[in-house]
Amino acid sequence: MSERSWGGDMTPGSWGDGTRSVRAGEAAPVPGAPLRPSPVFAAPFHLGDQPPRAGGADAYARTEHPTLRDFEAAVGELDGGRCLSFATGMAAITAAVLPFVGAGDRVVLPSDGYYTTRLLAAGELERFGVRADYVPTLEIEAAAARGDLQDARLVLLETPSNPQLDVCDIAAVARATRAAGALLVVDNTTATPLGQRPLALGAGLTVGSDTKALTGHSDLLLGHVSTTDDELHARMASWRGHTGSTPGPFEAWLGHRSMSTLDLRLARQAVNAAAVAELLAASPAVTGVRWPWRAGDPSFALAARQMLRPNGVVSAELAGEAEVAALLAATRLWTAATSFGGVHSTIDRRAQWGADAVAPGFVRLSCGIEDTDDLVADLAAALGALG
Ligand SMILES: *Cc1c(COP(=O)(O)O)cnc(C)c1O
Repeated sequence: MSERSWGGDMTPGSWGDGTRSVRAGEAAPVPGAPLRPSPVFAAPFHLGDQPPRAGGADAYARTEHPTLRDFEAAVGELDGGRCLSFATGMAAITAAVLPFVGAGDRVVLPSDGYYTTRLLAAGELERFGVRADYVPTLEIEAAAARGDLQDARLVLLETPSNPQLDVCDIAAVARATRAAGALLVVDNTTATPLGQRPLALGAGLTVGSDTKALTGHSDLLLGHVSTTDDELHARMASWRGHTGSTPGPFEAWLGHRSMSTLDLRLARQAVNAAAVAELLAASPAVTGVRWPWRAGDPSFALAARQMLRPNGVVSAELAGEAEVAALLAATRLWTAATSFGGVHSTIDRRAQWGADAVAPGFVRLSCGIEDTDDLVADLAAALGALG
């Protein structure tokens, strides 16, 4: 395995986010070599006359492969830990939960977070005798202070929560879970590794759906888990080898290529989100605008203290389903689509999925990287058409 890092210290405060997005995890430059290694397409590798051994030459790509190591080195450096990459965000969440719980254990999950995480618990964990309790993001700190996490084996936070963008105090919950001997997992998808560093705040594992902003072009499925704990890392690496949720080389290579522009994309998305949140808040057709970096937002103070930078996800409420349909029919730049964090601006009426406890007119807007003036003008015209 090549020597990582070319002398730069990738911790925040040393290199900026733009430098880190491009250079994190890179090996020292080699004259005549490409700037970024090309994908290595192989399932088995030549063994030669040596038996395969752990830490030796590559043998079979389900366990690990060179392109995955390059991508993981980059993402891990942004997270401040060691990274394992997975085929999807849900494969990553599964790897962050299932190896660490068993019959009789209690897990605490957000009641208002990504809905498939709840489906994972209800559909796959409970039949093995793992009890799942659901706590709203805004109530988890109080639950921790009351001692409600004492008998938990694992606590998962999602902050900012998707889709309602509530924020909870990771460090405060981390103190309670550490005292209880429980593992704290943070779903950091909305924030991205540049926007928030859960490991530095005391989490045992940080998880991301890299399908979203980390890769950011709406053309990839990927996820990852990072940790500073070698035992947790080894257990999840075994899990991945046993269950086979390893991404292939093309996905890993494209993920690595895509994350090089994360800083640029986040910057434009945040500028767009700030303008869009103001526009929505001023519209009589809209209520309940949420963007954690907007002064006056219920999450503003905590987000400003805990997070490193904003992103492009905004939520708001229109009167109902018909008003959302009319808005989407009137806009030219805002596309009806789920997911978020991509280069295209999108609007998702969440109630149509039947999974979130939100009003029929609740929408999640994902601000892309189009020009701010164009997005605002187009959305303003569409809002105007609502009358
Ligand atoms: C999308 C998402 C996931 C799941 O990721 P996939 O890549 O779709 O499997 C998990 N958590 C959050 C917060 C998400 O937004």
